[in-house]
Formats: sequence, structure tokens, C-alpha cells
Amino acid sequence: MKCTQCKNEMEKMKFDVGYGIEVESLHCSNCGFNITEDKKLKTAMSELRNQMSKEVKVVKIGTGLGVRLTNDIVKSYNLKQGENILLKPEVDGVKLVVEH
Ligand SMILES: [Zn+2]
Repeated sequence: MKCTQCKNEMEKMKFDVGYGIEVESLHCSNCGFNITEDKKLKTAMSELRNQMSKEVKVVKIGTGLGVRLTNDIVKSYNLKQGENILLKPEVDGVKLVVEH
């Protein structure tokens, strides 16, 4: 397949999205353009989210209850101490929404 930007012949390569999960994409060594199939990327990202899913314990924090966020989640969403996140009730649980 030819690069849509510079018409150079593209080469297949794999990149690691984390946890050893690789996504195959086409790379142009001439201009650096990348093409990744949407379906392959979506599959890899959903696999990555599954890998990042962890059961955590509810612990006492002060007079209330809390859960500890895993380092993977902290790093992936670039969370900082003191930052606000939104607790959003969903049908099957509570979603933490990072708004930065
Ligand atoms: Zn190119």
C-alpha cells in the first residue's frame, strides 16, 4: 500500500500499546505517516482496558470510605493529588470521569 501523504511504499509494523498488546499498522518511513485499522485499534484498546481492570478494596478514609486507584490508572489518566474527578452513577456501577 502506498502512503496517502507522499506515495512512498508503506511497511507493516507493530506497536505496543501496553501490557505487550501489539497493534499492527502501516508506517511510511519517508514522512512518518501511520495508518492503523480502526477495528484493530479498538480491539487492542478494549483488551488494554480489560488488562487494566482491577478489583480494589473499599477502605476507610477519615470518617468515610474510599478506594485506592491503581498506579496504572493514575499514570494512564495523569491523575494528580487534590484533583477533582466526577463520580457518575451508571446502570452497572459507578464511573470515574476525569475531566482534565
Ligand atoms: Zn509518506
